[in-house]
Amino acid sequence: DFRQMEPLGTMVADIIKLLTPQAKIKGIDFILNTAGDVLLYCDRSQIKQVLINIVKNAIEAMENEGTITIDISKSQSCVHLKIIDEGPGIDDAIIHKLGEPFFTTKENGTGLGLMVTKQILERHHADLQIYNNQTKGSTFDITFYNTKS
Ligand code: ADP
Ligand code: MG
Repeated sequence: DFRQMEPLGTMVADIIKLLTPQAKIKGIDFILNTAGDVLLYCDRSQIKQVLINIVKNAIEAMENEGTITIDISKSQSCVHLKIIDEGPGIDDAIIHKLGEPFFTTKENGTGLGLMVTKQILERHHADLQIYNNQTKGSTFDITFYNTKS
C-alpha cells in the first residue's frame, strides 16, 4: 500500500516542534526516546496528522505541568510508537468510546480527532491500544506491521 519509507523519529520531532509553544504555556515538556531513525512504510502527512491528534489530546488532558514521553522502538518487523501522558487518565466507563464519531468530554471538543486517527491507522493496518498507566495518565500505543503491503 505504502511504497515510501519515512523516518518516524523525524516526523515525531517535527510534531514536537509544532506543538511545543502550546505545551510550554502549560509547563509541559517532551521527551523523545528513539534508537536511531526508524523507517516506516506510511503516508507521511497522514501519520503526522495522527501524531498531532494524539499529542494535542495529551496536552489538553494535562492540568498540571509534566512530561509527555514519546517512545519509538522496533522489534523484528514491527514498529512501536507510544505517546505517554501525565494527565488524569481515562475512565473505564468511557475508554471503549474513544474514537466513536463525535464522542467528546470537552466543552468545545469535536470528538473527531480519534475517529480520524483510527481511520488512518486502519489504512496502515496498524493497531491502536489505549490504556491507563500504573502511576498516572494514559498511553496511546500504536503498532505498525512494517511491510510494504
Ligand atoms: P476531542 O479532543 O475533540 O474531544 P478526540 O476524538 O480527540 O476529540 O478525543 C475524544 C475524547 O477522548 C476526549 O474528549 C477525551 O475525553 C478523551 N481523551 C483523548 N485523549 C485523552 C488523554 N490523553 N487523556 C484523557 N482523555 C483523553
Ligand atoms: Mg482531540
